[in-house]
Amino acid sequence: MINMSEENTFDAIVVGSGISGGWAAKELTEAGLKTIVLERGRNVEHIKDYPTANTHPWEFKNRSHLNKKEISERPIQSSHCDDTNKHFFVKDIEHPYIEEKPFKWIRGYQVGGRSLTWGRQCYRWSDLDFEANKKDGYGIDWPIRYKDLEKWYDYVEQYVGISGDYDNLPHLPDGVFLPPIPMNVIEKHLKKCLDEKYTDRKVITGRVANLTEFKKGRGKCVYRNMCSRGCLFSGYFSSNSSTLKDAKITGNLTIRPYSIVKEVIYDEDKKRAIGVVVIDKETKEELRFFSKIIFLNASTIATTAILLNSISKSFPEGLGNSSGQLGHNLMDHVINEGTYGIHEGFIDKYYEGRSPGTIYIPRFQNVSKKTKNKEFLRGYGIQGKGERENWRSKSSPGIGLELKKALQYPGKWKISLGGRGEVLPYFENKISLDFDKKDQWGIPLVKINFKYGDNEIAMMKHMTKASEEILLNSGFNKVQSYRSSPTPGSAVHEMGTARMGRNPESSVLNKHNQMHDVKNVFITDGSCMTSSGCQNPSLTYMALTARACNYAVNQIKKGRL
Ligand SMILES: Cc1cc2nc3c(=O)[nH]c(=O)nc-3n(C[C@H](O)[C@H](O)[C@H](O)COP(=O)(O)OP(=O)(O)OC[C@H]3O[C@@H](n4cnc5c(N)ncnc54)[C@H](O)[C@@H]3O)c2cc1C
Ligand code: SF4
Repeated sequence: MINMSEENTFDAIVVGSGISGGWAAKELTEAGLKTIVLERGRNVEHIKDYPTANTHPWEFKNRSHLNKKEISERPIQSSHCDDTNKHFFVKDIEHPYIEEKPFKWIRGYQVGGRSLTWGRQCYRWSDLDFEANKKDGYGIDWPIRYKDLEKWYDYVEQYVGISGDYDNLPHLPDGVFLPPIPMNVIEKHLKKCLDEKYTDRKVITGRVANLTEFKKGRGKCVYRNMCSRGCLFSGYFSSNSSTLKDAKITGNLTIRPYSIVKEVIYDEDKKRAIGVVVIDKETKEELRFFSKIIFLNASTIATTAILLNSISKSFPEGLGNSSGQLGHNLMDHVINEGTYGIHEGFIDKYYEGRSPGTIYIPRFQNVSKKTKNKEFLRGYGIQGKGERENWRSKSSPGIGLELKKALQYPGKWKISLGGRGEVLPYFENKISLDFDKKDQWGIPLVKINFKYGDNEIAMMKHMTKASEEILLNSGFNKVQSYRSSPTPGSAVHEMGTARMGRNPESSVLNKHNQMHDVKNVFITDGSCMTSSGCQNPSLTYMALTARACNYAVNQIKKGRL
């Protein structure tokens, strides 16, 4: 007999409090559902728990680099964090996983998840992305198109606050933007050169979730570019600064940190999920929580791991896995190490502060018949930034007087470019569980088996060559590239493993992000993605989450859930 007491029974359970979980919490609580957010990490209170937000560069030991011990505790995460923000990334030694092939699983286990440390780049998808699988035959067709998501992109953007320009590009639809963060002189120069020299590619202002205008309870960005430490002005979007704050205001939210969701409980008689099993991170006690609906938002790999660990008579291979697709079709974006070029001009031009703004060269390959590429399918975009070399930078050379001088005198103008390309959904790229190896909470370790295919390698080479050509054609010299691709996972855009689709035989979720097999379970983090596009994906997770919450609430009202 299951003990369903009032204090552990809710209308909705949301697992995870990162970007997508924060949205689920806001939408469900605002619709009047008593909701518990179960978060495996510690609590992070907005502003109060940003210990380095005001620390000056010289106050960090080792100029903010991690020391050897810190790196040895974080062999994976250390490529993405430093002394300024390490507290928002996990220690790998405490949270191990098995790399059957090298894959960086970058994680932040805390209230807010990786919404605290993300790069804030936000781009809509278009039908070029939603129709790609159907057209070239890789993966399965998406069950939705741009028109299904358009109003939800509008809805989410209005709330998040995304600064950007209106660029009128059909394959990168414009959104609801705040005024753009202005380009600096070298970025404008690159834009002008591309406008003059190319018909297929252009430089646009990066669209970022940094406020250029005040927004309800949130201040304007004051250009410190220290976002990944947490923002004291709420100048960028995070769950902590925005969605969780508004969910709390409803009075319908309970957040329980240190709650590691181990599995979803499936009731064989009712043929539905009735709750989740949680291990308290601190006491290791096993607890149960119950609800009408469950939103899994623990992030791509973690959500699927929970499902693979949810074994019942009806689902011996993991909850909702009648298709056999759960865990498969893992994707990330393929990126290159980057290309750099120096410009000898504009030395009388400076910039003030540290803008978190960027530039973006939207996808320009395989966009039309004219831009068809024979070497690879689909495409990539290039992100970039222009700045004066070694100015106010932790990599400024020297110590003492030499360092003081280096900090005072800006170097030449430099542009850095980095591509992000679409990875095809391959069935062989997957996650699974090792039931013989468990973590300290008795939960099976995740195994990741992922490899780029020939398409991704060809794309990566192309993005490097194209970046070099763009800079050389724009008057830059000393143009250099690292000719390798970082370890998969490095883009931190892991997607897939519980994909949406029209057919329950080949997909896990339907067009409402609802499990085909278990109708009261919804997944709206990156696990649901049927293909990967080349745009940074979090904006699409947010739009899908808001849309799925709206559907779930309506279904409850109609008595169907
Ligand atoms: C340095 C960096 C830069 C990035 N830049 C961008 C960018 O510019 N644009 C972009 O679109 N994306 C970017 N990303 C990716 C972005 O952060 C993720 O896509 C996004 O956070 C995913 O949201 P999520 O809700 O799925 O997961 P997360 O934000 O990771 O949240 C998941 C939450 O679930 C919790 N959790 C995990 N397992 C369990 C469990 N078993 N039980 C309970 N809770 C659990 C975690 O602790 C975490 O709080 C970046 C990421 C990083 C690290
Ligand atoms: S750059 Fe803007 S959003 Fe980021 S920490 Fe500074 S003020 Fe806040």
